[in-house]
Amino acid sequence: MTISRPKNTYGLEGRNFPIYEDFSDMQRIIVGAHKGESKQKTKPTKILVPVENFKKFNENKQIFEEFFEWLTDRQIQFEFSEISKHKRPMIFGDFNFDFVSLFSGGLDSGSLPLIDEFRNSRGLLHHTHTSHRMYHVAREVYQKCIPKNHKISFSNLDLESTADIPLLHIRGVTFLTNLLCIAAEHGITKVIIPENGPLMINYPVASTVSPTRTANPDMIQKWTEIFKKITNAKIKVQTPFINKTKSEVILMSKTKTLIEHTWSCSTSQGISKMCGICMACFVRILSLYAIDLDENINSRYLYNPFKISSSTLKESRMTTFRILINCLEFWKNIIQHDEIKNNIEKERFENLAKKYPILEKFSLDMYVGIQNYLKNNNDSEILGKTSMEYLNIIDNKILEMRQKALQRLRKKYGWIT
Ligand SMILES: [Zn+2]
Repeated sequence: MTISRPKNTYGLEGRNFPIYEDFSDMQRIIVGAHKGESKQKTKPTKILVPVENFKKFNENKQIFEEFFEWLTDRQIQFEFSEISKHKRPMIFGDFNFDFVSLFSGGLDSGSLPLIDEFRNSRGLLHHTHTSHRMYHVAREVYQKCIPKNHKISFSNLDLESTADIPLLHIRGVTFLTNLLCIAAEHGITKVIIPENGPLMINYPVASTVSPTRTANPDMIQKWTEIFKKITNAKIKVQTPFINKTKSEVILMSKTKTLIEHTWSCSTSQGISKMCGICMACFVRILSLYAIDLDENINSRYLYNPFKISSSTLKESRMTTFRILINCLEFWKNIIQHDEIKNNIEKERFENLAKKYPILEKFSLDMYVGIQNYLKNNNDSEILGKTSMEYLNIIDNKILEMRQKALQRLRKKYGWIT
């Protein structure tokens, strides 16, 4: 299979430094190869990649093959061919920013502490493209949350669509590559990824769902090392919230009330309201309740996840919602047994749990969130079970359990919570 050089990831005219464009193409090819390979799992494929820095890539082809195998559990053989060098304009022109960061279009929780930092420094933000359905929501969110007198590059990146949403499994590689290329090209050494811990780990939530590695710390480390080796760029990637849950990230922000303007929903059902029943909405609602930041569910969400009966949703939505509700069992298992049963590959989870015990903290947040919701709303029902029935699978000492867990984790890992 031969792939010619496409328009670059930004949909704009090339770069001044071909090495970054080569790297960006390599990322696209890895993503594309994974997509193609999913359909034919049996035999390894050979892919020819045209690059301008042939020698550099050819010398290091093994590390790309190893990375691909690590990422996708599949093997592929990369061959490189040389294409002629030509000079292109810089994507963003000249700017002098202190760091590069990447937020979702909805400026979710991780952006809030960084907004505090924007007041003293300048960062490049991600924004959805004008043609994207989230654009208007995102623009409104940005206008409300970013200080008016502060200069922020409002670029026309369309990373959400270039990341190919249905291919969630490895979209993080696309996001990271863009961050690294933009930073390196402009001599910015600091790259900040403001995802919180559970999101970064991307633990498996059901038997059919693998960790997406969207911002998985192992992926970030491996891919950044490869990038630095190939390009000689001096870059440091920071993940300041990796040991924090969403609740904690919101709590630590001086601007936490801005959360009411932000947007977490991943389905964008109804531009004026979040859906309330996707994973992003559900985790957002529980995380806010866990720290007594109460959002008005009726006015902000299309559905209240605590009031879903079997006839409320279409079958396709219902299937997704059931998977979501299964997470309550998953979180319960983490809290009660410190292990996961049946629906998760045991070994994989245990490795995650050992490495990232933040899952326990997160699971406790979720149950404290349910409990706090029920303080004022005891008529709720999820798929025929009262929320109390879900909660009763954990005993009523949940707050005490959470406190103990935090103390233990703080002692062991020195986390500031
Ligand atoms: Zn949603």
